[in-house]
This record gives sequence, C-alpha cells and structure tokens, in this order.
Amino acid sequence: MAQTRPILIGNARVFDATGAEPFPADVLVEGNRIRAVARDLNTLEAIGADAIDATGMTLMPGLVEGHSHPTFTGVSEPAQLGEIPPEEHLLMTIKNTRVMLDHGFTSLFEAASAKLRLGVVTRNAINAGDFIGPRMRAASPEITTTAGLGDERRAHLYRESFALIADGVDERRKVARLCMREGVDNLKINVSGDDFVTHAKASITPMSRAEIATAVEVGHDFGKMLVAHSRSAESVKRCVEAGVDCIYHCDQSDEEALDMLERNKHRHYVGPAFGLLYNLMYEHEKIGIAKQWLLDRGFDRAFDVSCRTYHEMRRRGIRVVIGGDYGFAFTPQGQNARDIHHFVRFFGYSPSEALQCATRVGADLMGLKGECGEVREGFLADLLLVRGDVVADVSLLQDKANIAMVMTDGRLWRDPRRDVAREALPLAAE
Ligand SMILES: [Zn+2]
Repeated sequence: MAQTRPILIGNARVFDATGAEPFPADVLVEGNRIRAVARDLNTLEAIGADAIDATGMTLMPGLVEGHSHPTFTGVSEPAQLGEIPPEEHLLMTIKNTRVMLDHGFTSLFEAASAKLRLGVVTRNAINAGDFIGPRMRAASPEITTTAGLGDERRAHLYRESFALIADGVDERRKVARLCMREGVDNLKINVSGDDFVTHAKASITPMSRAEIATAVEVGHDFGKMLVAHSRSAESVKRCVEAGVDCIYHCDQSDEEALDMLERNKHRHYVGPAFGLLYNLMYEHEKIGIAKQWLLDRGFDRAFDVSCRTYHEMRRRGIRVVIGGDYGFAFTPQGQNARDIHHFVRFFGYSPSEALQCATRVGADLMGLKGECGEVREGFLADLLLVRGDVVADVSLLQDKANIAMVMTDGRLWRDPRRDVAREALPLAAE
C-alpha cells in the first residue's frame, strides 16, 4: 500500500551507504522504489509529485537492526519472558516493532523470538498490510540443550523461558522442523553459554558439533538462515565449520577462530550485540545492579575482550552488523541506534563505515543485497531524513526527535510536513 503520488525529496544531503562522500541531490520515490537520485538540483521531472524540502537534512537508508528482539519486553531475566501469556506477548511485540520503526529502524533481523509464533505472526501481519511496520525476518525461539543458555528448569521445577530445549540429533531435527513448519526465517541456536548463567558461562560450549550440524542441515534444506549465540572461541569454530550464517557475539574468539572467520568471510555475518555489555558496564546503577555483581561475573573483561575482537573483525574485513540485544530492562527498545556510535568509539570504525554496517550490510543480512540498504535508483524506498549531518555526528540518530522522516517500503511513517507523528494515530494503515 504505497503512497499514490510520487514523493520528491528536494535538496537533501545524501548519505547513500556505498562509502561515497555525502552529496546534495533531489530524490524521487515512486511506489515503493527510489526512482531517481539527481545530483543536479531542480532538474527532476516529477509531475504531480508531493514535495518534501530536505534542506539541512541528511537523507539516508533506513536502519537495519541486525540483532533485534521485538519479543523482549523490558524484563531483567530470561525466565520472566516465559511467564508472559501469548496474547499479551503478541501485543507487546507489535508495539516494540513500532518503537523501533519510530527510531528509524525500517528492517528488523530477529535474533530470536521469545515464543515460537510471535515473530512469525507479527511479520505476516506487516507483510499483509494489516499495520505499518518494519520489514522483518522472523526468528525461532533460542534452541538450546539441557543446561544451556535458556534452560531455566530445575530438577524439582518446570519453568518456561525463551528457549526450546532439544538434546541430541533426533530431538534437534524434530524441533528445527517444527520451527520450519511454523514459518520462521531464522533458526536460532545457543551454542555457547553466557556469563549470567551459573551453570553455563560464556566460555562453555554445551552444544555438540552434531547438534549444530543437524540444525544447519534442516534450516538450509528449507532455505532458511542459521543464527547462533556464540561467545566462546570453541563455539565460533563449531559454527564456522557447520556453516552457521550469522554468528553473534564471538567476543572470546582466539586467533584460530578469527582466521576461520576471515577465510570464510563471504559466508558469514557477525554481530557483537555490544549494547548489552555497554549498558551493563555504564548504566547498571539505573536498574539497581551493583558494580560488584558485574565484576564477579567478569563483565568488565567481556567488555574489553569484545573491543579487541571487533577491532580485529573490522581490520580483517569481516561483515559486522549492528544490534545490541535491546529489550531487557537495562537495554530498553528504542536505544538501538546507540550501537552505531559504539562501533566508532570502541571498535575503530569511521562514522561512514559504522553507518554502512547499520544500513547496507544489514540489508545484505536481511537477504536484500542489491535491493535495499542504499540510496540508489531502483532500490526499495526505506529512507530516513535526519536533521543535521549524520556523518559528522552519528549520535544524532539516537534521538528520534532528530529523525524528521521515516519511510518504509515507500510509505511515510513519519512525515516532516505534519506535526502529528503517526505513532499518535490509530493502529491501522491508511
Ligand atoms: Zn540476543
């Protein structure tokens, strides 16, 4: 349901996400595509077009959240996600997709869904045009092993979390096929543990090679992507060997793991999900986490190790996407664009490179390579207008008040000519 009239965005400073310097241009959108990018201002033939004056603003591709969790509702621990009834959980999920769209994220690559059908149903409703939302690749829940990240049960007590627990090759195949049947795009496996799990720390790799290979086989047989929670060096190596498409965290990667990733860099994407660590280290007091609690669990070391690892990832030309595990109490949805600044500040990316990770590289991960993620003729019209010079100051993107226009698939979610944000209007699309 695109706008009926073409839209002419005039006199914008265009950041096209190819690595080129920003340049002034007029950009014409017709239907859901960018029809023309004219560097000679005031030369476009745009009869009957709606005009938007972009003087003083940056026109750039919409942001891609490469590790999004729209089903994470601001909880402080995973077991709380298991306690939310599915009906309420679906409404919260839809709301979170809108929060992210409102902050400039026109694509969400879901890193895991807290329940099997939440991401799938939300994606389907957006694709059907039932409501305006970001593009979505919907994920499965986090498939884990007994004693892995996401197994919140105790010997005397059953507890749901965000995981599906499957041990051994046969159970793994069955649960992966279940996720295929229910329509996920991304199959998520928790290969390593994490430092907030007492029985499976980040350095532990509970998932066997055979279990990983089985998930990859099923996912790829159905034409879907495999995504992994992998902090330990061993987990990264097992994921590369098995052909997991997107490997998250990778913070404890040793030289061998980095070499393996580099040799296979055209097969894999990685994502640090660094927002989680940053907020834990710098904003823990806001939610009552004591510094000592973090130090006892080694989060300060994890922070430093992540910085070193992602300097290397950048240097070796490995494809890295933004996305910071937003959706916990200490990482509220809407802060997602902070990751761009983190890439510059902590990993040594130039502002332009970090913005490319957040747009073009993310669009490639979405499966839209050559079709989305750049301001280019013929590309899908997922576009932002940002007040000011985003390349000079990437932190402008952290405040939605600076985002004057959000366009998704050619439709205006936020229109700089109206002072009423779409968020204040009813749920239905036009
Ligand atoms: Zn995550």
